[in-house]
Amino acid sequence: MRGQPVRVYKDYVPVAQAGDCGQKRSQTIEGNPSFMRRAIALATENVLSRVGGPFGAVVVRDGEILATGTNLVASTNDPTAHAEVVAIRAACRALGDFKLTGCAVYASCEPCPMCLAAIYWARCDAIFYGNRAADASDAGFDDAWLYRELCLAPEQRKIPMKRLMAGEAMASFDAWRALPDRIDY
Ligand SMILES: [Zn+2]
Repeated sequence: MRGQPVRVYKDYVPVAQAGDCGQKRSQTIEGNPSFMRRAIALATENVLSRVGGPFGAVVVRDGEILATGTNLVASTNDPTAHAEVVAIRAACRALGDFKLTGCAVYASCEPCPMCLAAIYWARCDAIFYGNRAADASDAGFDDAWLYRELCLAPEQRKIPMKRLMAGEAMASFDAWRALPDRIDY
């Protein structure tokens, strides 16, 4: 099966090459302030209730809030429990789907690389954010370094990466390609 010119992952875009990071694209989208107000309120409440960091997010579809999320990293010992990821998981549970096409994410702060990627993987239609990444940095939540890491070749990143057992690893892809009833995503 190897070598077959089949693209399994729809819309899959290879990890950013160093030269891709400067690409620019502009478009205009209109957000609803009431949804952003809710995301901000969630973020503030999350702090005041001592649940987690100052981040909130809501997923909106057809003019209604489908799910909400707040930062739960410290309270659940889950480093991936950022507000956007929590909201996306809840929205997908609510819909019984792994795609959030037709949904917009309102986040109290500009998404970090992990959350941005999650929003892309979920196929959301739009992202609205309140605070900028620079504001988060001022509050002690710097993720600029992580954005920079994405633009580096694997061998240049802070966490060392080395390829092992490439031949054997391919077995799982071979199994996937051979699966007649696979669910593409
Ligand atoms: Zn995040």
